[in-house]
Amino acid sequence: MKALMEVKNLKKHFPVKSGFSKKAMVKAVDGLEFTVYEGETLSIVGESGCGKSTMGRCLLRLIEPTEGQILFEGQDLMQLSPEEMRLRRRDMQLVFQDPFSSLNPRKTIRQILMEPLIVHNIGNTAEKKAKVEWIIEKVGLSPDYLNRYPHEFSGGQRQRVGIARALILQPKLIVADEPVSALDVSIQAQILNLMHDLQKEFKLTYIFISHDLSVVKHISDRVAVMYLGKIVEIAHKSKLYQSPQHPYTKALLSSVPLPNPDVKKERILLEGDLPSPSNPPTGCSFHPRCQNAVEACKNRAPILEEKADHHLVSCHLIEKR
Ligand code: SF4
Ligand code: MG
Repeated sequence: MKALMEVKNLKKHFPVKSGFSKKAMVKAVDGLEFTVYEGETLSIVGESGCGKSTMGRCLLRLIEPTEGQILFEGQDLMQLSPEEMRLRRRDMQLVFQDPFSSLNPRKTIRQILMEPLIVHNIGNTAEKKAKVEWIIEKVGLSPDYLNRYPHEFSGGQRQRVGIARALILQPKLIVADEPVSALDVSIQAQILNLMHDLQKEFKLTYIFISHDLSVVKHISDRVAVMYLGKIVEIAHKSKLYQSPQHPYTKALLSSVPLPNPDVKKERILLEGDLPSPSNPPTGCSFHPRCQNAVEACKNRAPILEEKADHHLVSCHLIEKR
């Protein structure tokens, strides 16, 4: 498997005012390490506020990371000038959560889909027009819709337009930030199936961001679980769902409904809220909510390491096998 993107020690810390104008730092992303392989779907899952959307934008340098390396096809994106980065972004596109607010209401679908071609100077007018008609059909909409405005469409149709806008440049990587969370459950499956078909057809690599382990179950090849700006577990989908190791992953999975309602499973309730990323707990940042925590967990932060074949976990109590 060939690496498409390698992320090393990626951090995004924001200064925020707290109390009497004392400066605090929000560690939204705090030392992420992972690799995305060509053609796979890597899902990144965690509660809202864990830093996953910030991470998605950092990967494309839509917001500037504080430090770290982002190697894309071996090239460190952090070393590129803003203009070089703008051009490089042709190969990596973002699909947003809310297809309504991400589409300009004053523009027709044709204008919205034309825009990336104009920005990246692709083709003459006739070629641009043909490309727009080609891509709208690829996402399952009729070219007759091209002169309409976003408000004339349903949520699912708007997300199809959002996907078409990301795809029209024929990128290698798509970062999809909760692409189905704003949609009705019945529509979610249609959009996930569409994304799956497009991945095969265009040989796309996906980073799929979600707060919901049940949503990413079918589309993922591997799943990373994120907690307070860090990855706490990453494994192939079958390993992660069948034998989760990290106590946080276990708790998240215990709330995912089982396909067979006769099989009972114990629900692990997480105590307390997600702590503030401006004041993360000492040691293992999960320790205040962890049922297994021991004294050492308060003082020493575990590192994400391979505990079994391609199964990485960040927890003191998990032995290497
Ligand atoms: Fe729980 Fe300790 Fe493992 Fe953290 S290191 S997940 S607190 S057992
Ligand atoms: Mg988010």
